[in-house]
Amino acid sequence: MDPRINEEQLMMMRNVRKIMEEKVAPRAAEIDEKAVFPRDVHQLFSENEIYSLVVPPEYGGLDGQLLTLCICISEISRVCASSSMVLGNQSLGAAPIALRGNEQQKSRYLPKTATGELLPCFALTEPNAGSDVSSMQTRAVPDGDDYIISGNKCFITHAEVGDPFTVFAKVRVNGKDKITAFIVDRDTPGLSFGKNENKMGLRGSPTGTVILENVRVPKENILGNIGDGFRIAFDSLDKGRIMTGAMAIGLAQGALECARDYAKTRVQFGKLIGEQQGIQFMLADMETSIQAARSLMLTAAYKYDNKEADMVRFSAMSKLFATDMVMNVTTNAVQILGGYGYCREYPVERMMRDAKVFAIFEGTNQIQRIVIARDLMKD
Ligand SMILES: Cc1cc2nc3c(=O)[nH]c(=O)nc-3n(C[C@H](O)[C@H](O)[C@H](O)COP(=O)(O)OP(=O)(O)OC[C@H]3O[C@@H](n4cnc5c(N)ncnc54)[C@H](O)[C@@H]3O)c2cc1C
Repeated sequence: MDPRINEEQLMMMRNVRKIMEEKVAPRAAEIDEKAVFPRDVHQLFSENEIYSLVVPPEYGGLDGQLLTLCICISEISRVCASSSMVLGNQSLGAAPIALRGNEQQKSRYLPKTATGELLPCFALTEPNAGSDVSSMQTRAVPDGDDYIISGNKCFITHAEVGDPFTVFAKVRVNGKDKITAFIVDRDTPGLSFGKNENKMGLRGSPTGTVILENVRVPKENILGNIGDGFRIAFDSLDKGRIMTGAMAIGLAQGALECARDYAKTRVQFGKLIGEQQGIQFMLADMETSIQAARSLMLTAAYKYDNKEADMVRFSAMSKLFATDMVMNVTTNAVQILGGYGYCREYPVERMMRDAKVFAIFEGTNQIQRIVIARDLMKD
């Protein structure tokens, strides 16, 4: 085990693995089939204090270390990637408040996030503003002590169960648009929800639309100051990208184990396919790429926890490498299972579908390359 992982972190990781294998593994295929938010998994995370991984200790969290969250979330996605989104979105949703909330905002929202009473969401993307965040059209207009927000957010993870939402909107100040982050409670009049997307994978993690029609929020709900939104979004994503890499690594690990086990039982041409060098080389490459991704992810998480200056580059690199890797590994896992790999009887088909999105959300892998290259050119 990596020397950066201490005994307590290892214990937590093993505990999560046990819970996942006992309680979620038997239901992982059904979670994908049903394509609804898995409330039983949410309940399980709440009862076993797994949500405490996403909140600083002062507000009911465990150790506040991203590394602990990453090694545990890998254990979740190893069994069920949709379930890893339940914890992953809890972290991304809480991040703007944890990173830039004032004392009042933190004590109002974070303890309930640590217990799972609240499921915060991150509402940045819009129909015409994906990678290009600055082209967002959602606006917040001052009105007395309040702001009135109007616009549409799309692709919002767990919108249908979320509360509160960090909504990013433009505020016009002296003729300039300033992206600003607002906390919007679910029961605020004017907030409604559109249809969920019918997705290729991560089907147990509903992705929906958030509609804001003259939503009035008090100015106390602004995170940081007017114009801090861009920074808040990207600081949250720096953390989220390392975690996304960790989710991809767990998923790849699950697919590799399935392919290895199959190769140890399937006989063709009178011997196990696992005894064919062609299959062994595939398994060896899969294992090597997973370990390389894990090593980079642990470095990135360590740098994040220790506030090292090159953390942003490492965050983007770990996301890029792990999420391209998981597509290769899950595709090869399907290949190793042959025709059975292509059918729902085995989990690798689901794993391959689940894998694709990791290179798309939290900033596409093209955007990660831009971040890495930009940072590199500064050296
Ligand atoms: C399952 C799922 C869950 C999501 N959850 C959330 C959420 O909770 N909150 C949230 O706010 N958003 C969420 N998103 C949105 C996600 O972050 C965006 O889909 C992503 O940022 C990409 O934006 P886009 O889809 O508009 O693609 P686009 O930005 O339109 O990109 C299309 C293609 O062009 C490429 N591209 C764009 N610009 C460049 C460039 N400058 N150079 C090279 N290539 C470029 C992209 O890499 C991509 O391949 C989610 C998306 C999905 C699919």
